[in-house]
Amino acid sequence: MTLFAEIAVHAHFARETYHYRVPPELEGKADAGHLVRVPFGKQIAQGVILRLSEESPIADTRDILNLLDPQPVLTSAHIALVEWMAESTLSPIGAVISLMLPIGIGQRATTRYELRRSLPSALDEFSATQKRILTLLRRRGALTSRQIDRHFRNVDWRNSAQALVRRGILSAESFLPPPRVRPKYVRTAELAVPPEEAEAALPSLGTTPATQARRAAALRLLMREPDAIQVSWIYAESGCSLSDLQILAERGLILLRETEIWRDPLARLSFSENLPSKTPLSLTPAQRRAFDAILAAMNGDSPQPILLHGVTGSGKTEVYLHAAAEAARRGKQSLILVPEIALTPQMVRRFFARFPGEVGLVHSKLSEGERYDTWRRARAGRLKVVIGARSALFTPLPALGLIVLDEFHDSSYHQTEPPFYDAVRAAEALAHFAGAACVFGSATPPVAYRYHAERGAFRLVTLKERISAESPDSARRLTLPPVQVVDMREELKAGNRHIFSRALQESIAEVLSRGEQAILYLNRRGSATYVFCRECGYTLKCPKCDSPLTLHTTGGERLLCHRCGYTRHVPKICPQCGSSHIRAYGLGSEQVEREVSRLFPQARTLRWDWETTRRKNAHEIILSHFASHRADVLIGTQMLAKGLDLPLVTLVGMVLADVGLALPDPFAEERVFQLLMQVAGRAGRSKRGGRVILQTFQPEHPAIRFASLHDYEGFYAREMAYRQELGYPPFTRLARLEFRSPRSSEAESAALRLADVLRAHIAKERRVETSLIGPAPCFFSRVGGEYRWQVVVRAPKPEEFLRAHLDALEGWRVELDPISLL
Ligand code: ADP
Ligand code: ZN
Ligand code: ZN
Repeated sequence: MTLFAEIAVHAHFARETYHYRVPPELEGKADAGHLVRVPFGKQIAQGVILRLSEESPIADTRDILNLLDPQPVLTSAHIALVEWMAESTLSPIGAVISLMLPIGIGQRATTRYELRRSLPSALDEFSATQKRILTLLRRRGALTSRQIDRHFRNVDWRNSAQALVRRGILSAESFLPPPRVRPKYVRTAELAVPPEEAEAALPSLGTTPATQARRAAALRLLMREPDAIQVSWIYAESGCSLSDLQILAERGLILLRETEIWRDPLARLSFSENLPSKTPLSLTPAQRRAFDAILAAMNGDSPQPILLHGVTGSGKTEVYLHAAAEAARRGKQSLILVPEIALTPQMVRRFFARFPGEVGLVHSKLSEGERYDTWRRARAGRLKVVIGARSALFTPLPALGLIVLDEFHDSSYHQTEPPFYDAVRAAEALAHFAGAACVFGSATPPVAYRYHAERGAFRLVTLKERISAESPDSARRLTLPPVQVVDMREELKAGNRHIFSRALQESIAEVLSRGEQAILYLNRRGSATYVFCRECGYTLKCPKCDSPLTLHTTGGERLLCHRCGYTRHVPKICPQCGSSHIRAYGLGSEQVEREVSRLFPQARTLRWDWETTRRKNAHEIILSHFASHRADVLIGTQMLAKGLDLPLVTLVGMVLADVGLALPDPFAEERVFQLLMQVAGRAGRSKRGGRVILQTFQPEHPAIRFASLHDYEGFYAREMAYRQELGYPPFTRLARLEFRSPRSSEAESAALRLADVLRAHIAKERRVETSLIGPAPCFFSRVGGEYRWQVVVRAPKPEEFLRAHLDALEGWRVELDPISLL
C-alpha cells in the first residue's frame, strides 16, 4: 500500500497544500508534524506534513526526499492551528507555516553517516575519497556531516558518500542537532554580613588610601542593595576591580558567585522593589474566584477563554502564577504571552522565582542559537513555562495546559505585516485544539471582547481593587491615583502659553523637592497631523463623514478626509468661535525635555522614545537607569504604558491627552482611553501614593472624562452606543485591503478598480450586510517611499466574501479584523 503525505510547503506564496508520496524507506518514520524536504517546482523546499493518507487527489505525486528530524516540529494542536489561521486570515498556508518554525531551522539539520555492515580490510573497489570516508567511519563510528567536513578540507566528499548510501553501505539520517549554546553565567556579589558589621569593617579595607577608597565604595554599594548584583555594575559604580572584591570575599564580608542569567541588565530593576516571592501568596477571595474559573477550564468544565478584567495592581499576575503551578502539578506546560519581554521584566522575574530552572524565554533579543535552545527544550517537554511575545505562541509545547495573554488589549499582539494575524484569536484557537485553559488579562479589555463576554463567548471575571502588598486583605487597600484634568484652554486664557500647565509645573517641582520621580507622557502617534482650535477645542471634521480631517503638507498645505477623499484648505480662523488660534498640533519629546530642563535645571531627565531606543538593549538601560533613581523625570511615548511598577513614581503627567483622539479611525478613542488608563495606572503603586495630571483641550471628551474617573464601565457603554450607531465592530466585522506602490497614481487606480469590482460582486450576490469604506488614501499615506491606498470591507464574515474573490486581490495586503484603519 502506498502512503501519501499532505504537506504545507514553506513558501510564502503557497496557498495550497501539496501531496507527496512517502517513499518506502520513510514509512513508519514520516508522520504528521514532521519537517521534510520535498521537490517543489524546479527547486527543493522544506515543508511540514499535515497528515498522512492512503490516497492522493492527484495521480502524479513526487516523493518526499528526506526527513529533517525524527521528531515532529509541530504538535497536533499546532497543525490544526496552521490550517485554522490560513482559513481565517486568508493568508497562504506556506506563509503561516513560516511563523511556526524558528528561523533557519531547516538549515540546522545535519546528516549522520554510519556504516551499515562490516567491510573487508582491503577497500580496493572504492575510490580514494570513498576509502577515506569508510576508514574514518570504521575508526570513529557514526559521524555527522559537520564532523566529516573537518577531515576533508577542500574535498567535496558528499557525492562520494551519497554513492555509498545508494549501495547500502552507509546509512544517512538527518536530524536537528542539539544547540551548542551554553547558559550564560555572570559573576555577582552580595553582602554576606549584616550591614552593621560591614559598616564596622569599612575603615580597614586597604593599606593605601586609593585601595581603601575603592573597596569602601564597593562595600557601601552592596550595603545599600538587598539583592546580589553583577560585578560589572559594581566596577562601574565604585571603580573597584575583581581583586578588590576577592579580598572583600576572603574577609567574609561579601559573597561572590556565578549566577545563571537570562538578560541581566534587568536584574537591577529589582533593587527598588521587594524581591519576587518564591512561595505562592495566598489568594484573596477575588483572586480565588478567578483561579476557580481557570480550574474549571482546566478540568474541561467550561471551554470558553476567561476574560480577567482587573485594574493595574489588582493581583492578576499572582493568579497567573497559581494557574501555572496548578498546570505543572498536572504535568502540563504553560504559555505566558506578554506584549514585549523587554518591557515586562518584573513579570518575568516573578515566574523565574516561582519556577526556577523551568522557564524558557522567547524574545527577539535572543540570538538565534538561544531561541533554538528554548524551542528544543520546549519540544522535549523540559520547560514548565514559556514566556514570550506573540510569536511564542508557536512554540511546540507537547503538553500545553494553560495559555495566558497578559495586557491582551496591547496592539503588539497583532502582527501588522503579512501574514497578518491576531495572537489573541490564535491563542483562543490553539487552546481549543490543545484542550488548554485560556486566560486573557487586562485592565482595559477591548470593548469588543467585553461585548462578546456578555454574550457568553468568554467567561468574565473582574478584580475590582488594587492589592496593597503591605496588607493584602486589610481595609487599607491602595486606591487608584486621583486624576486631575487640566483644561489647557483655560491656561491659555490665563496667559500661560507653556506646554506645561501651572498645576503640572507645581507638581513637578513638588516631586523633585521630595526626591521622588515623575513620568511625563506623550502620545506621539499622529501628532501634528490634525488641526484644532486652541480657544474652543473645535476639531475640523469632514462635512460628509464627520471624520476628523488631517493635515497634509506634501504639495502645499491641505486638509484631507481619509474616508471619502474630501479636501479643503486650512482655515485661518476657527469656524466655531472665530479665533485665529487654530493650528496643527503636535509635540515632540525633545521639546518636552528641553522645557523641563529650562524650568528645572537641577532635574535629571531621561528620554524614552523611538529615537533613544534604537540602540540594542536601550530599553533595559533606560529602565534600569530610571528604576535605580539616576534620573528624576522620564519623558516618553507609548512604551511607557506597559506594565512597569516603579514605587518612586508619584506623578504622571500626560502632556497632551488629546493627541490621537482626532484620528480618522473608529478605534482611535478606545486606544486613547486604554492608553490613559494604563498610564494613569503607573502612578501610586506604593504607599507613597501618587497623582496623575491630564492636560487636554477637550476635557469634556468621553475618552478623557471616563479615563480620568477610572471608569471603564462608563466608557464601555458610551463606546458601544457609538460603534452600533456607526456600524463598527463588534456589531460587524472589517477587513482592510491595502495597496502599495511607488507611484501614487498606480495605488490610486488599483484602489478604484478593486472597489468597483467588489461593489459589483456585492450587488450581484445581494450581500445586503456587506459594504465598502473608501477607496481612500491611508492616513499614513506614504510609508517607506510607497503610496498607500485602502479599501475597507464591512461584513458579518468578511473572509467568506473575500475568499470567493481572491483573484481580484492579487498584490493586495489583506488584513482581517484590523485594529486600526490608519
Ligand atoms: P497585576 O498583575 O494585576 O498588576 P500583581 O499580581 O502584580 O497585579 O499584584 C500587585 C501587587 O500585589 C504585587 O506587589 C503582588 O506581589 C501583590 N499581591 C498580589 N496578590 C497578592 C496576595 N494574594 N497577597 C499578597 N500580595 C499580593
Ligand atoms: Zn469624508
Ligand atoms: Zn474655536
